[in-house]
Amino acid sequence: MAVAIVGSGLAALTAKAALADADVHAVVFGDSPDPAATWRRRAQAIRQTHMRSESDGHCGTRTFPGLAVRDAMRRRDLRQLVESVTDRYHPTVELFLEHADEVRRECGWDESFVQARVRRLHPVEGGFEVDERGTFRHVLLAPGHPGLHVPPELADDARVVHAYEPHAYADRVAVVGAGMAAATEWRNANAAGGEVISVRRREPLRRPLNLPRHLFTKRGLATYHRLDVESRVALLRSLSTPSYPPGPQWDIPVRIAAAIPDAADQVICATGFRRGFEHDPLLSALAREHALERANGWLVLDDDATVPALTDAARTLAVSGVHAQWAFPAADTLAGMRYVAHRFARRCRTR
Ligand SMILES: Cc1cc2nc3c(=O)[nH]c(=O)nc-3n(C[C@H](O)[C@H](O)[C@H](O)COP(=O)(O)OP(=O)(O)OC[C@H]3O[C@@H](n4cnc5c(N)ncnc54)[C@H](O)[C@@H]3O)c2cc1C
Repeated sequence: MAVAIVGSGLAALTAKAALADADVHAVVFGDSPDPAATWRRRAQAIRQTHMRSESDGHCGTRTFPGLAVRDAMRRRDLRQLVESVTDRYHPTVELFLEHADEVRRECGWDESFVQARVRRLHPVEGGFEVDERGTFRHVLLAPGHPGLHVPPELADDARVVHAYEPHAYADRVAVVGAGMAAATEWRNANAAGGEVISVRRREPLRRPLNLPRHLFTKRGLATYHRLDVESRVALLRSLSTPSYPPGPQWDIPVRIAAAIPDAADQVICATGFRRGFEHDPLLSALAREHALERANGWLVLDDDATVPALTDAARTLAVSGVHAQWAFPAADTLAGMRYVAHRFARRCRTR
């Protein structure tokens, strides 16, 4: 049985770990031999020190024991466990990355990795041809976000830098956006002694996780899966409201503005990523060639993140990461990646 993962980020690593745990060998086709490379670069750019996710936000197969247990054992301090029980524990980026390296070693990532950008996936009897690299019965697509988003009206502004690109801070900094990356940049620019102007179109919500907690639970997810297409689209759209956690450490003095002041020396776009699978060449070609169902820019998937038109008893095409939001609204989190990974591994093991 041949299994392939296309993409080489955290979603791919999480899937590879779940497959290894189920004794299923999978080849990984990707751009980068280091599955944490893309994430690390972005987290470093915004100088992130702690994860937004909690103890279970890691690439391993089982939610428990999570990073809080590892942290507590290392420090010989139960505080991390108490914080975890009360949903106040957020691992350091360092601990998260150290664990990701360990998962990488244990699941045989390096031995299965093929450095290659996949251009085409062609369905054939009982599987999929991945470029000219062979036919695979089960394929997981985990290509990540299709590039950074900079508002088009700012594309030629020499003051602009994207938050996820390396940068220093000027004296008067306008931060566009009002989500977690923006909040982190308010803190950074403020700590660097700059004046901070928060340019926002919408008022952000204050919540610990990037989506409401019930959408990470079995029951919340079951309710979501019962929604019809229109209601799902409405819910997914409503979830794009920017948010950052509550707590005094995030209450930075910022001047709020609706537009970028001319006097700003630097404009940091904390505007996230380009949205929609159409921006990903592999997914958009697949959707076009096979007339895959879509709804308002989302790929319509089954609840286990498989592509219904290209999945049957003999073969599987599934999607992980942000493009799997139809199946799991928080698909672009480690919890979402694990949700997809387990379901994909189960199909590979049993079919
Ligand atoms: C700064 C930051 C902080 C975050 N913090 C948290 C957090 O605390 N908790 C949490 O749960 N989530 C967090 N997230 C969200 C989430 O974990 C990341 O977005 C995650 O990196 C997405 O992983 P991915 O594998 O889907 O995509 P990526 O990391 O983008 O990896 C995709 C990889 O696949 C490669 N690829 C793409 N197309 C092809 C192709 N056709 N052929 C071969 N290779 C291809 C790409 O080059 C890339 O290397 C954070 C995100 C960011 C940016």
